[in-house]
Amino acid sequence: MNHKNVILLGPPASGKGTQAKKLAEQLGVPCLGTGQLLRAEIEKGSAVGKEAKGFIDSGRYVPDETILKMVGEWLNENKDGWIMDGFPRTLPQAEELQKLAPDAKVIVLDVPRENLEQRIIKRRECTSCGATVAVTDLSQTRCRECGADSLVSRTDDALESFKVRYENYEELTIPLYDYYSGLGPVEHVDGTQAPAKVYEEVTNAVTMGTSGN
Ligand code: AMP
Repeated sequence: MNHKNVILLGPPASGKGTQAKKLAEQLGVPCLGTGQLLRAEIEKGSAVGKEAKGFIDSGRYVPDETILKMVGEWLNENKDGWIMDGFPRTLPQAEELQKLAPDAKVIVLDVPRENLEQRIIKRRECTSCGATVAVTDLSQTRCRECGADSLVSRTDDALESFKVRYENYEELTIPLYDYYSGLGPVEHVDGTQAPAKVYEEVTNAVTMGTSGN
């Protein structure tokens, strides 16, 4: 696998973060989760975090200008390959990234809306080790990754925020599929499968992109 710039696209809770992390480890490149980066800025109480919080909590996209500045700084320090998780999400973001990395491999995780709602209800983040997990019992607070009693729901995983996030996704992110199809091959992976199977297909898609596809 020598494709070192990979863009993972898909609706909220389609598994981008989980797949991006594994792929980044395997390829030995960093992974940029813009949502994660924004949550870290909120935690720090930085100016970017203060601006982003209202947008994120209500499920709206953070303005392109803010995102592009943040990603531009990150890309300046990470020039030797990366996995993008949650960026780009709008056409202006995709066009900017295209100027910097015209050779990126684009992979879409397809998951229908009805599955996403179920995932959102069960999704928890561990405030101790940072893992994202799906709980079987909604009252579960113990993290199976690190054992800490630290599982919480993301504030933007409330169903009201999710509705807004999905509407934004339909209106602003789905047009990227046509944009990228017009530039070259886009691989679609069925994201409803077990995570290991999704990962197998994601890695196949990355490999395919390097073998003359
Ligand atoms: P995520 O962790 O990818 O689900 O992102 C959480 C939230 O961060 C999103 O619902 C947006 O409010 C914001 N966000 C993350 N990435 C972007 C982006 N590329 N453009 C605009 N907003 C973003």
